[in-house]
Order: sequence, then C-alpha cells, then structure tokens
Amino acid sequence: MVTAMKVNYAGTVPISTLDWTGKAAVTIFFRGCPLRCPYCQNHPYLEGPGLVELDFVKEQIKNSKPFVSAVVFSGGEPLMQDAVVPLAEFARNLGLAVGVHTNGCYPERAAELVERKLVDKFFIDVKAPLDDPELYGKVAGRKEYTDAGKKTAAKKTPEEITKAIAKTIETADASGLELELRTTVVRGFIGNEEEISRIAAWISDRIKNREVTYVLQQGIPEHSLQENLRKNRVLERGELLELGKVAKGFLENVRIRTKEEGEEGV
Ligand code: SF4
Repeated sequence: MVTAMKVNYAGTVPISTLDWTGKAAVTIFFRGCPLRCPYCQNHPYLEGPGLVELDFVKEQIKNSKPFVSAVVFSGGEPLMQDAVVPLAEFARNLGLAVGVHTNGCYPERAAELVERKLVDKFFIDVKAPLDDPELYGKVAGRKEYTDAGKKTAAKKTPEEITKAIAKTIETADASGLELELRTTVVRGFIGNEEEISRIAAWISDRIKNREVTYVLQQGIPEHSLQENLRKNRVLERGELLELGKVAKGFLENVRIRTKEEGEEGV
C-alpha cells in the first residue's frame, strides 16, 4: 500500500510582496525546524504536527496562481520535508517561479531541487560567521541538533551544521541561480561590526556569483523565541545602514530590511 505524502504545514500567505523582493508570490510555510535560534520570529511554526495532504497545499498554490508569478517555500525549514520536491514540481508546472527560504542544513535536498531544475532562487541564512562553529551554534540555539528529516535521527554538532550550510551555499552558488544570503541582526546578540565584517569577508572569499545579494535583516527582539532577548532594543534603521556599509567593504550588492522602510540598497 502506498501512503499519500503528507506535509507538515503551518500556513499560507496567498499574496506576498515581502518574501521575494520584486515579485508577487504565494508563500507556503512549512512546520518544523532542526534549529532553535533564540531570536526566531516564527517560533509557533517550530514544533508540533500540522499534517495536511499534499493536495491541500497544491490547492493553496493553485488558488493564488492568477495573482502571483512565484511561490516561496518558507518556514520553519522547507528543505526538511520530502514534500517540498513534488510541491516545487507542481508550482513549476503551473508556470510559477520557485523560491526557497532555507537555513542551509539540508544540502542534499537543495542539490536535488537544482538538479531537477525545480528552483529559481535560494534565500539562505548566514546567521553568524561560518568559520566559527561555536558562535554559529549559539546563534542557531543549538550545541547540537537532531536531524529530524532523516529516518534515523542523528545528532549533529555545530561543526557539522556549519559544514552543511557551507555546502548548501556552494551548491546554490555553483548552480548559477539567483542567490540571496541574509543575516538577522539583534542588538547584544549577533551582528556587531566585527561579526558582520567576518560574515561578509567569508561570502566574498567563497562566492563566485558576483550578483549575490547580501541582506541585513532587522531582528525584532520582542517577538523572539527566547524570552531573555525580548527586552533588547531593536536596532534602528540608521544603525543597520552603518553595518551595511561595513559589509559593502567586501560585497557589491548589500541591502537592509527594516520594519520602518522595507528593503533598501546600501
Ligand atoms: S529563525 Fe532559526 S529556528 Fe526559526 S525557523 Fe529560522 S532557522 Fe528555524
């Protein structure tokens, strides 16, 4: 007996202009993530099953099709689930562009989407300098994580996490597809000048795609998963702009994203 594939699903934004700058997209949020970033704003999506049939999610995409030119898979972590592949295929057959927001922990699934030409753009988190597993582990909220996407759950160390993320970025870069790398900045937690310059230097050293976009996102501490961050003062637009200038010393295409002004170039 073949069991129908289910999706651990968190919700849909039928028309979004925020998830893929320049495009109107239907955004599908997957439930579940192997990380626990203390600043996570989507923490209601981290735990618990919200299983729906694949056809239900296809229907959501189809309903938005007259109004959008793209689908964005977000979360949680979309690449954690097998279902992202048939959904990307479905969207592709409808003529939609496919974007994937990912924390980069699943390089094999990213490679599968690339090989099968089921993705047009990756948006990948670079939460901290990738050559600093200890700091990365802290920002990702894990000294280690359980790879729940695998049949036999395996514990992964911060070294393995950063290696997987670097591999996803390498795959996305080698694909020649559009690529956005993004860092969420939270005062007193991650994203001071020194950390941003280390991240930007890493990207500049490793990435061949000169069109790569690097975005600094304003974290909103009051919505954090971890309570002790909620009182941190939000980084103001001007402060983010200054950090953007630091990144600009290494990279051509730097942008900031704030609640006040949306997305803007540095
Ligand atoms: S911010 Fe971290 S914990 Fe939250 S969904 Fe993204 S990767 Fe997962």
